[in-house]
Amino acid sequence: MKEIILIKNGELALKGLNRSTFEAVMIKRIRRSMKSCGECDIRKAQSVIYIEPKDDSFDIDRAEMLVSKVFGIAGYSRAAVCKKDMSDICSVAKEFLSETLSTAKTFKVEGKRGDKSFPLTSPELSAELGGYLLSCYGHLKVDVKNPEVTVVCEIRDNAAYVRAGQKKGAGGIPVGTGGKAAILISGGIDSPVAAWMMAKRGVELSAIHFASPPFTSPLAEQKVKELLSKVALYAGQMPLFTVHFTEIQKRIGESCPEEFFTIIMRRFMMRISQRIAADHRCQALITGESLGQVASQTIGGLVCTDAVCNMPVFRPLIGMDKNEIVSISQKIDTFDISIRPYEDCCTVFTPKHPKTKPKLYDIEKAEAVLDIDALVEEAVQTARFEIIE
Ligand code: ATP
Ligand code: MG
Repeated sequence: MKEIILIKNGELALKGLNRSTFEAVMIKRIRRSMKSCGECDIRKAQSVIYIEPKDDSFDIDRAEMLVSKVFGIAGYSRAAVCKKDMSDICSVAKEFLSETLSTAKTFKVEGKRGDKSFPLTSPELSAELGGYLLSCYGHLKVDVKNPEVTVVCEIRDNAAYVRAGQKKGAGGIPVGTGGKAAILISGGIDSPVAAWMMAKRGVELSAIHFASPPFTSPLAEQKVKELLSKVALYAGQMPLFTVHFTEIQKRIGESCPEEFFTIIMRRFMMRISQRIAADHRCQALITGESLGQVASQTIGGLVCTDAVCNMPVFRPLIGMDKNEIVSISQKIDTFDISIRPYEDCCTVFTPKHPKTKPKLYDIEKAEAVLDIDALVEEAVQTARFEIIE
């Protein structure tokens, strides 16, 4: 039995003139992610995108998993390909839908005759296939108003397709239609979720991670790469820049009041990140901050951090509760990696009594003893680069 995947656009439908560009970007995304599944044809006809395997070696389970993660897709389904003849349609439908129909109680059939040369009309097609499936699965009942399973049989120009309902796609808009931004990624729960949320709005990502060896372990860096690989299933491959942060943290620790440590450190992170971001054509930074979570994430804290930024900082989690963030991290499969217990650079030097209402003037005065430009320059120049797939 030959199977294909059918895809329906999502929000794309709403975007007027942009629609064709968005659709082209989405198809490019689909094409790229299908490369790891084998050889297939991808084509569009009447607003449906078809993925057709070229041979049996195509991994259609993996293809379905990857399609479920492409932003811009509203719904998708697997369909069986049949000859345009009723006896083939019936026998293929019986076999292809056996699991679904054995466990369902009610169903209906929607026949759609696209090819008008097919001898049965749409209602006749529905009635004939429905009658046949009833005779095969004796426990089933027809319910045209509210069926558990809707069997769709479409007669198109080159073949007939049978499928059961449609699964919900990832939604959002295709990655690459929303510009580029750099996610500041730690090993925590929040930043991978923030990355995913912005990718869902079409933003192409670069990632920046601050590591402080030997205080932070190589396992912490490994964890960040694994988190980004999970995000990359949705966002596509992305560059990761790892910044050596040890020297800067030490200098802050030696020369600045302990209560300001976190805010001053975060200001360095922003300065370094926006340099790297701008060098790689990113127009904004993204962080996983959520208001009130910790001392540096009060409005006062954010004012002090943003004072050094000359590009927008997106904080998609700003108004979310921890449990809402956790539930997304579980959905995108990053949670179990995030809770592995390795030290992050932020926890290494955490002050006992951080200032919750820092004054910008005090912070600026406290950090003025450091050669900020030189420290930033050194960090930017020595950042390591790799590609995460
Ligand atoms: P997360 O769960 O993402 O670590 P958090 O709630 O622990 O977030 P903080 O540790 O205060 O919050 O960090 C706030 C944000 O700063 C993070 O979401 C991330 O965007 C950025 N950040 C923190 N540590 C690092 C790091 N080592 N490298 C890159 N970015 C970082
Ligand atoms: Mg953290």
